[in-house]
Amino acid sequence: MADTRVAVIGAGYAGLACAVELARHDIPVTVFERSLTMGGRARVVRKNERVIDNGQHLLIGAYTELARLLRLTGCSPRQLERLPLTLHIAGKLRLKAAPLPAPFHLAFGLLTARGLSWRERLAMVRWLGQLKRAHYRVPPEMTVDALLAAQPATLRTQIWEPLCLAALNTAPAQASAQVFANVLRDSLGANATASELLIPRVDLTDLFPVPAARYLATRHGEVHTGNAIRAITPGTDGFQLEGDTSGQSWPHVVIATAPYHAAPLLASTAACPDLAASLSALPCEPITTVYLAFGAGVSLPEAMIGLSTPPAQWAFDRGRCGGPEGLIAAVISAHDEHLAQDHAALCARLHTQLETELGRKLPAPQWSQVITEKRATFACRPGLERPPIATPLPGLWLAGDYVASDYPATLEAAVRSGVACAHAIVAGTGV
Ligand SMILES: Cc1cc2nc3c(=O)[nH]c(=O)nc-3n(C[C@H](O)[C@H](O)[C@H](O)COP(=O)(O)OP(=O)(O)OC[C@H]3O[C@@H](n4cnc5c(N)ncnc54)[C@H](O)[C@@H]3O)c2cc1C
Repeated sequence: MADTRVAVIGAGYAGLACAVELARHDIPVTVFERSLTMGGRARVVRKNERVIDNGQHLLIGAYTELARLLRLTGCSPRQLERLPLTLHIAGKLRLKAAPLPAPFHLAFGLLTARGLSWRERLAMVRWLGQLKRAHYRVPPEMTVDALLAAQPATLRTQIWEPLCLAALNTAPAQASAQVFANVLRDSLGANATASELLIPRVDLTDLFPVPAARYLATRHGEVHTGNAIRAITPGTDGFQLEGDTSGQSWPHVVIATAPYHAAPLLASTAACPDLAASLSALPCEPITTVYLAFGAGVSLPEAMIGLSTPPAQWAFDRGRCGGPEGLIAAVISAHDEHLAQDHAALCARLHTQLETELGRKLPAPQWSQVITEKRATFACRPGLERPPIATPLPGLWLAGDYVASDYPATLEAAVRSGVACAHAIVAGTGV
């Protein structure tokens, strides 16, 4: 019998997806997580007795692998607020896809849209048609800015650029047109279900990590939280992990951390210096989420709205998605000019921004919270080299949102890489 024990380093969405898929194939798996909270960059945060996420997350219907894993681990459909694709900027734009097969879902949305001229609607249809005819292939070095060059200004600034920031967390001038085209192919270019917006109604640790750990517990899997792995030493019978108190050698180890944490672990093996160096060189982008709790009586016109003025690009009404009434989460993607700004000043700026966007006075928030993830995602630039799941050391694997894939750094990219690792291990062990 082949020795199939697997150690996974990191209980983010990638590591847990890998572990769940291995456990589904009856492979014994142990997950080591340095934090006491599972979920990594998609986790719950408890601050001043309030329960919020480290950042507002949005899923789309095209996240098929995450959807499968959520079903497998027992997620109820009620845990996700499922909405038709809706782009809403108060007083400026309203485009809502209809529950119809493609391309009628979008065609109906465009026909009934508010805030777009007929010329703009036609330009959008023509542009999407061109992309489709080109099979969503664009020159590898092209930026989103260049891809959008011929689009009317309204479409660029109110639709495509905010979508690029939301999906790629990279400014259109630096973002990869190919990855953006991939996202459009699998969402707008697919069917009405694929372009649906899914907003978690539970916190991000309860959405998948907790059910995943429960699933593992019923299949001889283990999750050790508060257990960092400090180094990996290759040996003749597998890998020794510094920080693993069992002292055993592991035939397979999956490094499922962010790239900047994977780099020192890879360097500790002394066998993959080039890979370690390339991961530490991956550029990153921040995301700031500003929570403003206005209390009862305050809501947004939709669960999620676009904002046409800076600094935030999107605002979410948590009260419409299982959260307390009047709690608004505003998201600032890929911008760092406000990082040095004092939190109170940033909250005041967001308060003014929301009042401007909604065209009405808002009460002073009962409480507010700013959470900045300085290295939220890798910067999704054209031609970026992303590593494969296999490392130069047989038995040592990489999983994470940065691993080579069609997708930008998203929950879907993370879980797909984890599942791909699991399948490679399963195939190699002949189980
Ligand atoms: C603010 C914010 C908003 C976002 N919004 C969206 C969104 O709307 N939609 C979307 O799809 N994606 C979004 N993302 C991206 C998404 O959260 C990430 O792509 C995804 O969570 C990455 O998962 P991962 O498992 O690859 O890595 P991580 O989540 O980083 O998980 C790695 C885990 O490894 C652990 N670890 C690190 N080093 C060690 C060690 N030495 N030993 C043990 N454990 C270790 C870490 O503690 C962590 O738990 C957002 C990200 C942020 C930060």
